[in-house]
Amino acid sequence: MLLPVHYLTSYLTAVVLLGSVVTAKSYCQPTQPCWPSVKQWKALNASTNHRLIQVTPLARPCYLNITSDECGLVQSIYYDAAGRTDSPGASFWTNYETCGNKDCVMDLLVPGLVVGPGSCELGRLSPYALVASSPKDISAAILFAKRYNIKVVIKNTGHDLQGRSSAPGSLLIWTHEMKHKKYYPRFDACGAYNQPAIAIGAGVQGLEAYTFADSVGVTIPGGHCPTVGLAGGWFSGGGYGFMTPLYGLGVDNVLQVTLVTADGVTRVLNSCSPDRELFWAIRGGGGGTWGVVTEVVFKVYPQQALISFDFEYTVSADATSANATSLLKDFITTLAAMQPRMMALNGSASAVLSNYQVAGGYVIPGKNLSAIPKAFSPLTSFFARWNGLLTGNHTITPLEKFIDILPIASKWDSELSGVSARMSSRLIPKSLFNSTNSISKLADAILEGYALNIPPGSPQSQVPLLASLPIFIVMEGPYNHQDNSETAIHSAWRDMYWFVYYQNGWTKNLAELAPIVSSAVSVAADPLRALTPGFGTYFNEADVDEKDWKSAFFGENYDRLLKVKKKYDLYFILMILMG
Ligand SMILES: Cc1cc2nc3c(=O)[nH]c(=O)nc-3n(C[C@H](O)[C@H](O)[C@H](O)COP(=O)(O)OP(=O)(O)OC[C@H]3O[C@@H](n4cnc5c(N)ncnc54)[C@H](O)[C@@H]3O)c2cc1C
Repeated sequence: MLLPVHYLTSYLTAVVLLGSVVTAKSYCQPTQPCWPSVKQWKALNASTNHRLIQVTPLARPCYLNITSDECGLVQSIYYDAAGRTDSPGASFWTNYETCGNKDCVMDLLVPGLVVGPGSCELGRLSPYALVASSPKDISAAILFAKRYNIKVVIKNTGHDLQGRSSAPGSLLIWTHEMKHKKYYPRFDACGAYNQPAIAIGAGVQGLEAYTFADSVGVTIPGGHCPTVGLAGGWFSGGGYGFMTPLYGLGVDNVLQVTLVTADGVTRVLNSCSPDRELFWAIRGGGGGTWGVVTEVVFKVYPQQALISFDFEYTVSADATSANATSLLKDFITTLAAMQPRMMALNGSASAVLSNYQVAGGYVIPGKNLSAIPKAFSPLTSFFARWNGLLTGNHTITPLEKFIDILPIASKWDSELSGVSARMSSRLIPKSLFNSTNSISKLADAILEGYALNIPPGSPQSQVPLLASLPIFIVMEGPYNHQDNSETAIHSAWRDMYWFVYYQNGWTKNLAELAPIVSSAVSVAADPLRALTPGFGTYFNEADVDEKDWKSAFFGENYDRLLKVKKKYDLYFILMILMG
């Protein structure tokens, strides 16, 4: 049986990903006699240069003393994505710190209990973590876990939206402190490239990589979020970002990966290494399952000017529900009609829309400001058409280089961390953009999903934080990058225009909403699933209850990936849910 992540018990871990061979595998748990003694943990600590720590949940100081200075500090960063990444005892979403009714989670958003009920417990967090600094100590930790049949979990930032970087009773390998960076004016892994590249350690986060690239005068591909780790889940799951239309996905830009596999061996993977199949698998087959990455070498590009067109409009509270739906349908249709022109300009974009707002932005490489008004006239006409119901503005900003877009994009890109949440999503094929009829069907399906996620009158529609959750549309695919089986990314990525997703959530004081919103957000993608049969989704930002997950996440690559998995981790020591 396939167990959803939130139903996992402490004693039995569902092994569903790449695991048709085993439906469930038991790992040794802290309450069992097989669990290593304190002396044995101390021996591991000594053999890893004293890099082993006991994991403390982020909120523990507040459970101990709500008025302490330490608790004040925790409260100040509790909803801050960056602050959370600095703690091995935190995840981006708190449901991935929770196991059943065991957790150590706070709720500062809804007045009521700040901590509790219950005591501070590890929940899904690992009892011990290796604060990784080198392949050598990672290897020692993996072999220790293998010896005692303990599940290994790898965490970089904890931003994983499917909870793949935490698991109860596991040994955590925390790569956050592996922050080295090196610029190569010419990098030549196999004689095929010999161009500039940057090597980054497994713990380097988006902004750190962009800032370093900027300091040596180049641009490194990355995601929108400054705190996502580029060398962990982002690249291995695919990795889209502002530069994807121009330079391809994260996986298209990886020249070399160094990782420690489940046998404790450090391997350098590139297109001419003996482990080429593993190099293929890790570029699209997901994080956490092939080994512990210690370093990734990315292609880099010359810095270049670009133009941003960003917009932020509020939908009037006077809009009737029918008016708001017509407005949103017109908005989606307008964006879809602009898609071919934006692709020709190598433009990337994302938008959020709800009954309360339409916001987002485009980034166009180049300096040709005079072309902008015409390129964006469909959108400016839309704003004018709905002048009576929309209040806001749009701004055109010439920028010197890619890093300058981050402060602008943060206006439409921010997502709430420190709460519990779920999502569902779908990649949208090019073919749906061929006619006004199919675009209309696409817009209807997107809006149907919105209504399923937050039905009028539902409990979630009564909570302002949840009622205002938007639909997210990402309009940046690897439009001009074919794959030729170089990577394991789902082939749907090579045939898509958009990526659409929904989110929903709950807080500790609204825990009774968890099953309601989890099921609502899961079915929200059904209209898009029905409209795009056989297509897929981006499994880094997907539904943990995706029914057709093998096909939706991995497509035709699943069997080949499973073969690689069995070759490099036969005992499934590195195991995550559906990834
Ligand atoms: C706010 C936000 C914005 C986002 N924006 C984008 C975006 O613009 N583009 C995009 O493509 N995605 C985006 N994502 C999704 C993001 O790519 C995934 O959440 C990704 O899994 C995060 O990777 P991480 O390493 O930072 O997180 P983690 O939770 O630490 O890890 C994610 C997965 O990778 C594995 N992993 C981590 N480090 C290693 C390692 N060293 N070796 C092997 N496996 C490892 C983990 O085990 C886990 O399975 C966003 C997510 C968030 C929360």
